[in-house]
Amino acid sequence: MAAMSRESLLSLEHLSAHYVSQQGARVVPAVEDVTLRLGAGETLGIVGESGSGKSTLALTIMRQLPPAARIVSGRMMFEGENLLDKTDAEMRHVRGKRIAMILQDPMASLNPLFSIGNQVGEPLRVHEGASFKLAWKRAIELLKSVRIASPETRVSQFPHEMSGGMRQRIVGAIGISCEPRLLIADEPTTSLDLTIQAQYLNLLGDLQRQYGLALIFITHNLGIVAKMCDLLAVMYAGRIVEQGPVSRIFSAPAHPYTRALLGSIPRMTDNRGRLTAIEGQPPDLSSLPPGCAFAPRCPAAIARCRREAPPEIAIDSDHTARCWLAESDSEAPPAIGARARSDGT
Ligand code: ATP
Ligand code: MG
Repeated sequence: MAAMSRESLLSLEHLSAHYVSQQGARVVPAVEDVTLRLGAGETLGIVGESGSGKSTLALTIMRQLPPAARIVSGRMMFEGENLLDKTDAEMRHVRGKRIAMILQDPMASLNPLFSIGNQVGEPLRVHEGASFKLAWKRAIELLKSVRIASPETRVSQFPHEMSGGMRQRIVGAIGISCEPRLLIADEPTTSLDLTIQAQYLNLLGDLQRQYGLALIFITHNLGIVAKMCDLLAVMYAGRIVEQGPVSRIFSAPAHPYTRALLGSIPRMTDNRGRLTAIEGQPPDLSSLPPGCAFAPRCPAAIARCRREAPPEIAIDSDHTARCWLAESDSEAPPAIGARARSDGT
């Protein structure tokens, strides 16, 4: 875990991105009014149920959204520049070089027709003008650094000749090839068995220390958040409903949704600590209820919650929650129906 530095590397301000159907009849506000900051070398975990907008947020930061999506408002400051002001050509130089992303599906980022060496070396050729030969040599070193055995042989092979875990690590090698300042990893371990998963997480932690990169970690696994992350953002229906230091949120969650998520896991260090189901369904983003989107499932909701969407309330300087019932002091709010965490940590 990196030391806290509050100087921002990435600062998202009131960022919104929507999917719009062809006729414009259906608008899905998958990312809505997201404000967050990440310092150099820090690790941010993003959690939330399926469909809450985590991948869309990552693709927004990369400016790699599918054609149906639009960034409708906000700013994305990265190393002092607003990424939304950049042309597509300028963004191509940011992607892969200064910000890299490991996609949710590793096969989607590997081309079956090109050798591993070709693909791992590509960012170096594109962004740093390396020759094919130099990039190939560097690809072997990168494969070694992500602990692929016999990299000299593997470098000439093709994606289908690799195991799932090896493909994940190869995608990781592509991600770090140009030593980006920020690496976004979208569910990088879901397809891996537990041992390989633990190895891969250790590897990412080592690479982070070695290269000093900031990491955004999208996951369903709170055990991973506890192990890897300094900061946590909890997404619900396209919004960040709570964010702050992991230790603060785990010890005093302020949003009933976060409390429900945390209440449902037995031990933070447990790899089985995945988000379990919370009663009720996540809302249809194209027809959200008025007021707080979580209100229909919230055991603590009051009349105001169903009428008015809550703003981000500061619990303290770096911990916020979008909840009318959140209290702006460091005391844990009273237990209000959501099952409290039982392990007392
Ligand atoms: P998961 O945990 O399942 O990966 P997620 O939090 O990453 O979920 P997103 O993939 O960001 O969720 O999806 C957020 C919302 O945007 C969902 O309601 C989804 O249906 C919608 N969405 C995603 N991609 C598209 C698309 N190409 N066109 C229209 N809607 C989309
Ligand atoms: Mg996703």
